[in-house]
This record gives sequence, C-alpha cells and structure tokens, in this order.
Amino acid sequence: MTKNKNSFININNSREDDQIEVMKKIADRAHCPFCEKNLRLYHKNPILREGKYWLVTKNQWPYKHTKHHLLLIYKQHAVKLTELDSAAGTEMFDLIKELEQNFAFEGGGFAMRFGDTDFSAGTVNHLHVQLVVPDAMSEDFEPVKIKLGLQWEKRV
Ligand SMILES: [Zn+2]
Repeated sequence: MTKNKNSFININNSREDDQIEVMKKIADRAHCPFCEKNLRLYHKNPILREGKYWLVTKNQWPYKHTKHHLLLIYKQHAVKLTELDSAAGTEMFDLIKELEQNFAFEGGGFAMRFGDTDFSAGTVNHLHVQLVVPDAMSEDFEPVKIKLGLQWEKRV
C-alpha cells in the first residue's frame, strides 16, 4: 500500500487527480521527483533555463487562476534553507528578474516552502520556488492563494 507521506513527497498536499496518480507512482519508487536524475521521468514541461543552482520550468499542475506558474527547482536535493548555498539566493533573484523581463510579468509573487511537508504544505519535499502571475484580467478570476501547512483531517 502506498504511504501518503515519505521523506520525498506528501500526497496529502496534492491538488489534481492526475497529480495524485503520478505521486502514488513516485511514492512506490521512494525517490525524489525533483532530483535531476528523476525529474524527466515525471515532469513533462521543458527546462526553460538552467543556472548553476536552479532549473526553471513551468509547473505541470499550475494553480487555478494563474497566467504564469513557473518553478525554480534547486539542482541539489535539499529540503531545509540551511542546506542552500547562500549564492543560490543571488542567482534566484537574477533568474526571477530575467523571467519578469522575458515574460513581461505585470505583477505577481513568489514563495518557497521548506522543511516538513505537514508544515510547508509542499507536495514535493525538495526546495523549489513557486513564481506566480495571476490571470487577474480574466472574467472569472479569483485570487490565487498559496497554502502553508496541512489541516489535521488531511494528515494520514
Ligand atoms: Zn530531490
């Protein structure tokens, strides 16, 4: 039986049905889907940019009401901020600035969850930045919310 939470993923934080199916396969293999050697097994979107520390790609399961939902995935397996090279922070800002310009972002936000997935609400426990531009001009628009922490009843 698939355990919903291991050191690499937490299916309880998944949002979409097809995402849950992919996460169950990953859980059975007990490896990290964001480590470079495994990323291409599951992630179907192209790598848009590669730095020394980060890969840039589009989120395979973008949040609802987003115009752009990009991920910056740390190239080494890391789950805590203390595992990050401080120079990665500078590169992260440089890449986000470049994306802001290249995609002509009107505005948005970015977030990086870290650590225990019951606290972070992350599905994949490998440091990554969510970079979101909301689709704020569409008629059915609702604000995009980035969740932190998992409610008790979803913890299994
Ligand atoms: Zn990893």
